Amino acid sequence: MVKQHILDLTKIQLINSLKNVIIKEYQIGQILDWIYIKKAYTFEQFSNMHKELRITLDRKFVLRTLKIIKKEKSLIDGTTRYAFQTYDKKRFFAVFLPGKGHNSVCVSSQIGCPISCVFCSSGKTKYYRNLSKGEIVEQVLQIENDTNERVSGVLFMGMGEPSLNFDNLTQSLDSFLSKKEFGIGKRHVTVSSVGNVPFVKKLADKKYNSRLALSLHSVDDKQRRKLIPNNFGFDIKDILKAGNYYLKKTNSRLTVEYVLIKDMNDSSACAHKLARLMRQNHLVTPQTQVNLIPFNPINKSDFQPTSFENIEKFKIILKFNAITATIRKPKGIDIGAACGQLGY
Ligand code: SAH
Repeated sequence: MVKQHILDLTKIQLINSLKNVIIKEYQIGQILDWIYIKKAYTFEQFSNMHKELRITLDRKFVLRTLKIIKKEKSLIDGTTRYAFQTYDKKRFFAVFLPGKGHNSVCVSSQIGCPISCVFCSSGKTKYYRNLSKGEIVEQVLQIENDTNERVSGVLFMGMGEPSLNFDNLTQSLDSFLSKKEFGIGKRHVTVSSVGNVPFVKKLADKKYNSRLALSLHSVDDKQRRKLIPNNFGFDIKDILKAGNYYLKKTNSRLTVEYVLIKDMNDSSACAHKLARLMRQNHLVTPQTQVNLIPFNPINKSDFQPTSFENIEKFKIILKFNAITATIRKPKGIDIGAACGQLGY
């Protein structure tokens, strides 16, 4: 019998899979406590449980399936890039972002990425498969084990397009947000999508009320299709409308992500057009902000970053139009852990 990954199971599924084992209800709570609160990595560590039960759990389940095969820490800001190997010998990445009293992890949702953004190294990496719910949450547990730090923020901004892995994404959101499991606040969980409109609506209706990021990167549909070849076919205005729907339904926050590439999408005219598009789609609100991301260099790409002066100019135009805009400081750039650099 192949052992099941216990982290793949929801609480109900766990109860069902143990129904033939004589187990009291409070013991399910103890199991969850050992897994998510105490962050045990072997069943042997479940020290307040009967030895027999520990052996049964070990016979039925595995608690860790990922192996850390490489770890690089930035000398600039302590950002750490983890390369994981899965049970089927595939590789993917997650990034630990330390902060004062608030650590986050940028998790992957897929191995490789089928969207193929031309400026992103994940997009240039061969796509293999979705990550399971267990593999998604295990990234955070492994990093907590390795760093001995608590993680209080999760960003679905690693490899992959979360909208293409809906069930595992939502089940992992259940786990991250549950007080009995990770207990992360909804304001500290951000799901990023390249603009899959039905997904945005479906996620809004699910009422997780986590934050949403939409990767826009262009104000011109023709140019956007070139930059993001597998972009689900939605126009910019439909994507922004979906963002508006999300805000109304969830009362959460929306970030419009905009990677600035030299002589491509960084002109003052682009900034004015972005402001106009946001105004037309009712996104000039205190709940919406634009993240200006300086393009991070990647292999096999002729794109160049925009100058700092240009980024500032872009930001000032947005501000002048009452739009909150922040310039994202690249993290872990010396180890290839910044946005768009998670590929091989
Ligand atoms: N597929 C989702 C999740 C990935 S998030 C999405 O696209 O939203 C990764 C973020 O990094 C996206 O906003 C992406 O566009 C951005 N990014 C990709 N390549 C980059 C690069 N070379 N420099 C800066 N940001 C980049």
